[in-house]
Amino acid sequence: MFCFQCEQTAGCSGCKGNRGVCGKQDTTAKLQDELTGALIGLAHAVGEDKAEPETDRLMMEGLFATLTNVNFDDESLKKQIASVHQEKEKYVPGCNSCQEPCGRTSDYPMEMLWKDQEDIRSLKSLLLFGLRGTAAYAYHAMVLGYTDEQINAFFYKGMAAIGEDRDMDNLLPLVMEAGAVNFRCMELLDRANTETYGIPAPAKVEMKVEKGPFIVISGHDLRDLKLLLEQTEGKGVNIYTHGEMLPAHAYPELRKYAHLKGNFGTAWQNQQKEFAGLPAPVLFTTNCIMPPKDSYRDRVFTTGVVSYPGMVHIGEDRDFTPVIEKAAALGGFTEEKTFTGINGGSTLTTGFGHDTILSAAGQVVEAVKAGQISHFFLVGGCDGARTGRNYYTEFVQKAPKDSIILTLACGKYRFNDLDLGEIGGLPRLMDMGQCNDAFGAIKVAVALAEAFHCSVNELPLTLVLSWYEQKAVSILLTLLHLGIKNIYLGPTLPAFVSENVLNYLVENFQISPVSTPEEDLKKILG
Ligand code: SF4
Repeated sequence: MFCFQCEQTAGCSGCKGNRGVCGKQDTTAKLQDELTGALIGLAHAVGEDKAEPETDRLMMEGLFATLTNVNFDDESLKKQIASVHQEKEKYVPGCNSCQEPCGRTSDYPMEMLWKDQEDIRSLKSLLLFGLRGTAAYAYHAMVLGYTDEQINAFFYKGMAAIGEDRDMDNLLPLVMEAGAVNFRCMELLDRANTETYGIPAPAKVEMKVEKGPFIVISGHDLRDLKLLLEQTEGKGVNIYTHGEMLPAHAYPELRKYAHLKGNFGTAWQNQQKEFAGLPAPVLFTTNCIMPPKDSYRDRVFTTGVVSYPGMVHIGEDRDFTPVIEKAAALGGFTEEKTFTGINGGSTLTTGFGHDTILSAAGQVVEAVKAGQISHFFLVGGCDGARTGRNYYTEFVQKAPKDSIILTLACGKYRFNDLDLGEIGGLPRLMDMGQCNDAFGAIKVAVALAEAFHCSVNELPLTLVLSWYEQKAVSILLTLLHLGIKNIYLGPTLPAFVSENVLNYLVENFQISPVSTPEEDLKKILG
């Protein structure tokens, strides 16, 4: 196997051998490569034509299934590969039995990419991993009935390019275009979420679990949560969010359910410890599932594109009866339990979406003009297991007391239980939501720039980002497409960024790897 798509890749260079650091077996990695190669073949078969909705769905699901910590299940990957082959037949009938095959729509052998010249491999990897991230967002919008032809068309264009001979000059604009398309996709998902579940409003979320049966739901898919809330209403089973599902508490159409009680646990990488012996089932709706330990493997359920061998998968009908029955059988805690975040706090706040922050824009501008707010930091991104990620906790703790910290995605669990106080009636720490809510952060930055008659790069705003998986890659490409400079990125740089590509990013966007909180703060504020 060879895989280097995430931040925890072995030796900061690539997972090889029998098993990746995430627990992915080499058979699974090879099938994920096969699936990707089949999708490239499908992209060539579709060509410039408009694909059918079913083809778009297969493309999104196929890309999403190869994200880190989503699908560990060889059988489900084999089924996806077969479906992609079958779909291709619609566009190029009889191609498989052609007597003189041209190879144009054949499955692309991914080893060719992994062994390509390092700059080409780097740019194609940026494109592929960015597309995987965008596909996840497009999938969440699609299940709520929101799709966009331009976004879907780019999946074919981008995937086809990965399977073709392209030089750096040709690939660079495509990589930037992937960032533009991802911006459009995050906007689509923002619309899908807010039109379906209402405008997020600030919410205090307790890390307390009441006695009695309960279910923990993890991941990003708000529709799965909504359906679970409907199916558990009045049944005496409480629901607790986990990881990236925390911002769900901010949406009016979700928070109206009295049995959506609070949040259990912290970021995804702590699940094996936090779920040990949990007297409740856990439902994974998206990434990030880790190989379950024996102490809780009988209570793990998956749905959507998530799959793990031996775990019960809830299918398309989203009938959560097995999860609800498991919750009743396990019975939950016998008395109320209070848990804490990594810094000892037990109350979290979320729901500072772009509407909420922009409704206080006048207050923010006044506070800046009055010298009450000196700087804005967006400290966010995905969390991970690598040591050194306490950089983000320390950075927030050491940031000047007159600075505002905006955050999003699961990287916030490094500090979201800290009480950072207020400035001018505004909380110093504002959680804007899931990773896709980076769209909201960009909206806020653009509005601030307008208010101060300057560009986003001239604002007293610095992005300090943590990356782990491929959605972070797609967001990074969006920020680059928007021309946002001086981003601090960590805890390590992506293994798939070659030296020449890194030099390009540094020269054109002044991206800096994080160093120490003290040094970086000195650089930023100096
Ligand atoms: Fe390694 Fe990350 Fe790939 Fe898993 S997803 S095999 S940890 S690079």
